[in-house]
Amino acid sequence: MRKTTNFASCITRRSTYMHCRSCTTSAPLTHQAVDCWNCKKKIMHLQKMICSDCGHLQDVNTSINYFDLLSFPIKFELEPLQLTKRFRQLQTLVHPDKFSNKSDREQSNSSDWSSLINKAYKTLATPVDRGQYLLNLKGEQMPQDNSSLNAEFLMNMMERNEEVEEAADNAVLEQLNNQIIIDLEKNANTLSKHFEAKEFENIKKILVEMKYLLSIQQSIKKKQQSLITTIS
Ligand SMILES: [Zn+2]
Repeated sequence: MRKTTNFASCITRRSTYMHCRSCTTSAPLTHQAVDCWNCKKKIMHLQKMICSDCGHLQDVNTSINYFDLLSFPIKFELEPLQLTKRFRQLQTLVHPDKFSNKSDREQSNSSDWSSLINKAYKTLATPVDRGQYLLNLKGEQMPQDNSSLNAEFLMNMMERNEEVEEAADNAVLEQLNNQIIIDLEKNANTLSKHFEAKEFENIKKILVEMKYLLSIQQSIKKKQQSLITTIS
């Protein structure tokens, strides 16, 4: 019974339990023990990064999901500033400079962890990528076509694309971009609700719409670049 209590506190306070060794064996996969490659002692903590006994940096755990890696609950809504803070904390922990005079294994582990943390952070920090990642974690896939989108939405996207093409100055482009930022934010808020309600078809539709909006945003950036080049 005592062990179960420890496990519960480990889940709720996992950001501070980097070296939890009191979890039960029935814990989730990411919470199970591994043997330290150096001292062979069991390590029990979510990220399994550093052995609490000998302090050696462990091999990268590629099976860990990005939410667990960054100590966030597995849900769409998250606090971006907190995410950035956790990302920096983890990057500091495994930073290659700290392992430059350590063994080859630790040096390579350090760069492996570092790139995994970067990838996780980029995915979770971008709402559309976070949404797709979470969708996959729930066992759902993005649709291969745009059949979920209605004609009205597609017409609106075509009109916006035309507006970008016809824009003669940066002010117009900025205005178009601002509208896209507003729309993307609205979509992200709606996604939160749909994830809570497990409405996967709606989630997929919104994610596809967000991708459309992002592609228009790319066109706006390109157009802005071309305007700068024309002027200079
Ligand atoms: Zn060890």
